[in-house]
Amino acid sequence: MLVHVSTHPLIRHKLARLRDRATPPPEFRELVAAISRGLFFEATADVILRPVAVETPLVNTTCEVIAETIGIVPVLRAGLGMADAMLQALPEASVWHLGLYRDHTTLKPVTYYNKLPAEPNMSLALVLDPMLATGGSAIAAIDILKKAGIGKVKFVGLIAAPEGIAALAAAHPDVPIHLAARDEKLNDIGYIVPGLGDAGDRQFGTS
Ligand code: URA
Repeated sequence: MLVHVSTHPLIRHKLARLRDRATPPPEFRELVAAISRGLFFEATADVILRPVAVETPLVNTTCEVIAETIGIVPVLRAGLGMADAMLQALPEASVWHLGLYRDHTTLKPVTYYNKLPAEPNMSLALVLDPMLATGGSAIAAIDILKKAGIGKVKFVGLIAAPEGIAALAAAHPDVPIHLAARDEKLNDIGYIVPGLGDAGDRQFGTS
C-alpha cells in the first residue's frame, strides 16, 4: 500500500493544536495551512525537474525548475484551506474545485460542482480532503480525474480512519496517500476518532 504518514516533528506538533477543541477558527485555518504545506512538499518529492539557465549576480549557472504541470483538486468545502496553502507554495499550479455530497438514499457520492477543464493537460493531480473518513468522496474524485485522463493522481489528507485508507487503497491501489495522521477508527456517525471534529465547520466557524 502506498500510504505515507508524515513523521515530521513540526507536523506532529501542529496536529496537537489542530485536534484541540479549544483551538478557534483563525488558528485552526493557520494550522491547516501549515500542515498542508508540509504535506505538499512530501507529496511532491518525486516531481520531475528540468534544467534552466540562471544568471546570478556572480556567474551564469544551471538550476532546475519543475517540468510537470500540477493540478490541485480540493474537495469542497473542507479542502479549500489545504488548496490555498499549496497554491501559495506553488503559484503556477492550477486549482480544480470539485463538489461532492453523499446521496442519503443511494449512499453514493454525487458531483454537484466540477471545475475541471474540458481537456486537462496536467501530468499530476493532488486530491485534497482533510478527513479521509469512509473514502467515498476521495474515491469519486479520483474516478473523475482518471476518467479525464490524468496520468498521475495522489491523495493528500490531514487525518484518516483505517476504514477510509482501506477503501481508497482497494479502489485505487496505484494512488499514493499522504497523511499527517492515521487515527484509530470511524465512529457510528462517520466521524474519525480521535479526529478533530468537522474540518469544514472548524475552518469556517459554522458549527
Ligand atoms: N469529515 C469531517 O470533517 N470529520 C470527520 O471526522 C469525518 C469526516
